[in-house]
Amino acid sequence: MSAFEPQTFPPAPRPLRHLVLVLGDQLDRASSAFDDFDPAQDAVWMAEVAEESTHVWSSQPRIAVFLAAMRHFAVELAERGWAVDYTPLQDGSLAEALAAAVARLQPQQLVLTAPGDWRVLQQLRQQARALALPLDLRDDRHFFATVRDFAAWAEGRKQLRMEYFYREMRRRHRVLLTADGEPEGGEWNYDEANRVPFGPQGPGILPAPAFSPPDAITREVIDLVRERFATHPGRLDDFGWPVTPSQAQALFDDWLAHRAQAFGPFQDAMWPGQPFLYHALIASSLNLKLLEPRQLVAQVEAAWRAGRLPLAGAEGFIRQILGWREYVRGVYWTQMPAYLDVNALDARQPLPAWYWSADTPMRCLRESLSQTLQHGYAHHIQRLMVTGLYALLLGVEPQALHRWYLAVYVDAVEWVELPNTIGMSQWADGGLLASKPYIASGQYIAKMSGYCQGCRFKPAGVTGPEACPFTTLYWDFLARHEARFEKHSRLALQVKNLRRLDPEQRRRIQIQAEQLRAHDGQPV
Ligand code: FAD
Ligand code: SF4
Repeated sequence: MSAFEPQTFPPAPRPLRHLVLVLGDQLDRASSAFDDFDPAQDAVWMAEVAEESTHVWSSQPRIAVFLAAMRHFAVELAERGWAVDYTPLQDGSLAEALAAAVARLQPQQLVLTAPGDWRVLQQLRQQARALALPLDLRDDRHFFATVRDFAAWAEGRKQLRMEYFYREMRRRHRVLLTADGEPEGGEWNYDEANRVPFGPQGPGILPAPAFSPPDAITREVIDLVRERFATHPGRLDDFGWPVTPSQAQALFDDWLAHRAQAFGPFQDAMWPGQPFLYHALIASSLNLKLLEPRQLVAQVEAAWRAGRLPLAGAEGFIRQILGWREYVRGVYWTQMPAYLDVNALDARQPLPAWYWSADTPMRCLRESLSQTLQHGYAHHIQRLMVTGLYALLLGVEPQALHRWYLAVYVDAVEWVELPNTIGMSQWADGGLLASKPYIASGQYIAKMSGYCQGCRFKPAGVTGPEACPFTTLYWDFLARHEARFEKHSRLALQVKNLRRLDPEQRRRIQIQAEQLRAHDGQPV
C-alpha cells in the first residue's frame, strides 16, 4: 500500500460553496485563502501537473521538494477533517486539472491566495473566466509588504535601491531599532563586516546542517521523480530538504544554535567540497511557505538581544529576509511581464551546455555546478559571482540563463529568481535593480574562495594558456561595453584601467575571448 492515498481523503461536501485552490508554493496553514474555510461547505484543491516541472527543465531535487511538501500538506489538512481534492501527478497544465475538478465538484466560487508567479496567475484567472466562476483573489500575508506598499514606495523613482527600501521596512516593522527609532549599533548596514574570506587552511570542520531523512511519503516521491523525470538534471541520493513546517523549523533552529554565529562574517566566502558552509538553507522552506519570515526575523533579533549572535551577523541575515527578499518580490510584480524580455547589454551567447553537467576544467565553476546538480543548492555568492558572473562576462542571453536558474535550485520560484538573475546578476534591466553590473576578474574568486588553489588556470593571468577565463573575459567585457560605462560613476575607474592596456594586449584579449565564445565558453 502506498504511503500517500489521495482517494482516502475526506470527500468534498455537496453542494460545494468554495473550492480553495492551493498551489505547490502556498503550503501555509495560516494562508488568507483559509480565512473563512468551513469544512461543512468548502474543499481544498491541489494538483500535481507535469507542466509545472517541464516548462523549464526542472531538476529532480526541485521537483521532489515541491511534490513531497505538497503531499505532506494535503495529509495534514485531511487529518483535520478537511476535504482535499488531490490530483496525483498527471500530464497537462494547472488550468486543465482545475477544469476537470470543477466539472467533478461543481463549486459556486474559487478562492485563491495571490500566486507568486505572474504566469500562474494569468493561467488561473483565464481559466476561472472560461469556467464562468467567480475567483476570490486574496493578498498573500506571508510577506511583510504588499505589492501595493512596494509600488507606492517605488512610485516616481528612476532607480530602485534596496538599501532605502530596507531602511523603511526596518522602521515600519520596528526591527533592530533602538527605543527612539534609530538603527541598533548606529548603522543600518554592516555589510563591510560580512565579507571575510577563510584563511589558506579553509573553514576547518563544519557543523553538519540538520537535514531530515526522507520518510515514507518522501521516499515514494523520490522514486516517482526518478522514474517519471529520469532525463531531468540533478540527483536525489542525498535528498534531505525539509518538506514539512516542523522539519524546516528544526533545520532553522539548528542553524541558529550551531552555525549562525559564523554566518555573518563568512557570508560571501566559498570553499571547495563545502556546499553549505554557514548558510541557513531555508530558502526552499520559505518559498514553499513552510516557514514564516516574521518568526525567523524575530528569532534572530532575539538571539542578538540575548547576546548569542553578533549584531553584524544578525543584521546581515535580517537584511536578506526583510530587505532583499521583499524587495525582489516588489520589483518582480511591478515590472512583469516586460521584465522577462529585457536585455540591456544585448547579450546573445547561448548558455554553455556544460552548465547542465559541470564538465569544465574551471574549478570554481566545476565545484559550484556539481553541488548544484547534487543538492539543488549553491549559496548566493556562488550564484552571483561564479555561475552568474561567468555568464555575464561571456555574454550569455539573460533569458537562457533565467531558465537555467529557475530549473536547478530547490528554492527556485520565478518571483525571486527572475529579479536576481535578470537584474542583479546580468544587469539586463539596465540598472533598475542594481546600480552597476557585478563584474570581477578571477582575482575576486581567488580572494573569496579556495577554488583557485589547484585550478589549472592562474587568476591573475589575462591571456595565454594559463590565463583564467574569468580574467580574460573581465577585460573583454569592459572593452565591449567601454562606451556605455566610461562615464558610469562606479565603473569609470575600471574603464580607465582598461585604457592603460596597450593595443596589442587588447587585441590578444579580444582574440582569446572570441575563442572562449567559439568553444561554448570552455578554455581550449
Ligand atoms: P542564506 O544565505 O542563509 O540567506 C537567508 C535567506 O535570505 C535565504 O534563504 C533567502 O530567503 C533570503 N535571501 C538571501 N539573498 C536573497 C536575495 N538576493 N533575494 C531574495 N532573498 C534572498 N533565492 C531564492 O529563494 N530563490 C531563487 O530562485 C533564487 N535565485 C537566485 C538566482 C541568482 C542568479 C542569484 C544571484 C540569487 C538567487 N537567489 C534565489 C537568492 C539567494 O542566492 C538564495 O536565496 C540563497 O542562496 C538561498 O540559500 P540559503 O537559504 O542558505 O540562504
Ligand atoms: Fe576559477 Fe579562474 Fe580561479 Fe580557476 S583560476 S578557480 S577558473 S577563478
